[in-house]
Amino acid sequence: MTNLTWHDHRLTRHQRASRKNQQPCLLWFTGLSGSGKSTIANALDVALHERGYHTFLLDGDNVRHGLNRDLGFSEEDRVENIRRIGEVSKLFTDAGLIVLSAFISPFSSDRLLVRNLFPEGEFIEVFMSTPLEVCEERDPKGLYRKARAGEIRQFTGIDSPYEAPDRPEIAIDTGTLSVDECIESIISYLSHNHILKSV
Ligand code: ADP
Repeated sequence: MTNLTWHDHRLTRHQRASRKNQQPCLLWFTGLSGSGKSTIANALDVALHERGYHTFLLDGDNVRHGLNRDLGFSEEDRVENIRRIGEVSKLFTDAGLIVLSAFISPFSSDRLLVRNLFPEGEFIEVFMSTPLEVCEERDPKGLYRKARAGEIRQFTGIDSPYEAPDRPEIAIDTGTLSVDECIESIISYLSHNHILKSV
């Protein structure tokens, strides 16, 4: 690190964002497996794109196939997984984009680490508060069944803890809200907080 110099860009993040005519932010979806992070982040991505916003979606499995394919599921690697995703999200917001990240991210300390990379108001924690029973009943990838059978160890919600956020900017229970209602609720938050233009 000693011979590295931080280069300030001639173009600022503000200039990049204003060229896109938008306020960049990171929407950080956190919640149990099957709580709806991926479904809602994808639907919101489409909804924002259709409204003319410039967005980018980072999704758990996809990142593990590329950028983080050298990482496993040890505690150290899970922390590093989230750290790298935070740094990449930061670069994308510096580029002026609205970033959506969907990762279980069960530990408050890891989420705080990412939050601290961002200016006040730019990190928006979206807690998928869908109860474990609903997630397990859905079991979209069959992972809960495997975890209950002992075929997967350290599975969040079963034999590894999920630390729910204390004060998320947005909380959504997909067990009681439809996909459209979830999107509406997030868009309404973003409009109220002047991240999206009011319609
Ligand atoms: P995660 O990314 O949190 O693991 P997914 O989005 O992959 O969760 O899975 C959620 C599952 O729940 C999907 O199969 C989805 O179709 C289903 N589902 C049912 N109702 C809803 C809802 N209101 N919002 C989001 N997902 C829902």
